[in-house]
Amino acid sequence: MDVVLVVNSGSSSFKYQLIDVDASRTLASGLVERIGEAEGRAVHKVPQDAPGGASTSESERTLPIPDHTAGFGVMLEAFAEHGPSLEEVPPVAVGHRVVQGGARFFEPTVITDLVKINIDELSSLAPLHNPANLQGIVAAQAAFPDVPHVAVFDTAFHQTMPPSAYTYAIDRELAEKHRVRRYGFHGTSHRFVSRAAAEFLGRPVEELRQIVLHLGNGASACAVDGGRSVETSMGMTPLEGLVMGTRSGDIDPAVLLHLQRRAGLSADDIDDLLNKRSGMLGLTGRGDLRDIEDASEAGDETADFALSVYAHRIRSYIGAYAAQLGGVDVISFTAGVGENSPDIRGRALAGLEWFGIELDPERNAPRSRVARRISTDASRVEVLVVPTNEELEIARQTVEVVAG
Ligand code: AMP
Repeated sequence: MDVVLVVNSGSSSFKYQLIDVDASRTLASGLVERIGEAEGRAVHKVPQDAPGGASTSESERTLPIPDHTAGFGVMLEAFAEHGPSLEEVPPVAVGHRVVQGGARFFEPTVITDLVKINIDELSSLAPLHNPANLQGIVAAQAAFPDVPHVAVFDTAFHQTMPPSAYTYAIDRELAEKHRVRRYGFHGTSHRFVSRAAAEFLGRPVEELRQIVLHLGNGASACAVDGGRSVETSMGMTPLEGLVMGTRSGDIDPAVLLHLQRRAGLSADDIDDLLNKRSGMLGLTGRGDLRDIEDASEAGDETADFALSVYAHRIRSYIGAYAAQLGGVDVISFTAGVGENSPDIRGRALAGLEWFGIELDPERNAPRSRVARRISTDASRVEVLVVPTNEELEIARQTVEVVAG
């Protein structure tokens, strides 16, 4: 049995999952948060195979957790107390989510001292993420010193983009010196979903032209040709592209200059505005799409309008990617919004019959946690809902790397 511990580390928290890769099954999951604050919190969940369906036992502790190393200590105590025993199901490796792998990392990589130096060095491109990912790696290595640790990069899947897709049309020397280009993110999810879609359809991924729409708090579209990313909507940072929960997505760069000169905003103000106070939050005052949909249903015109802006941007990307791919075979919706909002899916695909995209309203409406088709039988393009599972993908890639 190949068991992997998957770690997704932030600056003051980390999430983990212990995954049995052969069975694609989560054996335990948890969250350690408010690291460094007066009172930290640790939650540990273990799925129980109860009669009549799976349930979950959950334990929670609040205690000071001064740093990530202490956090891993708390996690190990939770495993010892609530199971499963790490002696009985020892992880063969630890897989770490790392946000920015730059142009250097195009595949999952066993973490050596040199790899850590490189991840640190890429922090200038992801100042909020890479240092936090590295903290998690160092602490996890101390907690699990005898197994390989593997970095799985959000950017890696997009390293197959052609230069014409990843190049910004600015001064070449300046761009090269500062590594300004698009890297793309959510790669682990786009890879997982594009493969799961092919599997669902019973067709080889190599022969499919796919558009994957990862619509969560962050959102991105990806054009996948024969299983390889050829274009994606996030750029040098995860700010570009689709309208998101709190991020603007695409915007004329001159707007920033205008706001600097006319509204007196500093670089930090603009960073905060575009990353944290824009997108659906900026348009409606609400960041959670469920609330916006509820308001729209209750007749709130501002909410309804914001949903149409959100869908309009997605539609533009579908058109662009259909052109870049020379046609589309599959469109998949995934992540919180993509998996759960029939309204957004319907709005995003409205009027695309011309492309051979026909949504079936009855198939689109219900919820389900497994992959399913939501297009009509006559639709030339298969439209699917495919639940993403980034942790499982990290675990699978970790095993592949370790197995060599
Ligand atoms: P994620 O980043 O994938 O966890 O997605 C989070 C987003 O999914 C939040 O903006 C939620 O509002 C949204 N979401 C979750 N469930 C639903 C739902 N039933 N309908 C609409 N949006 C949802």
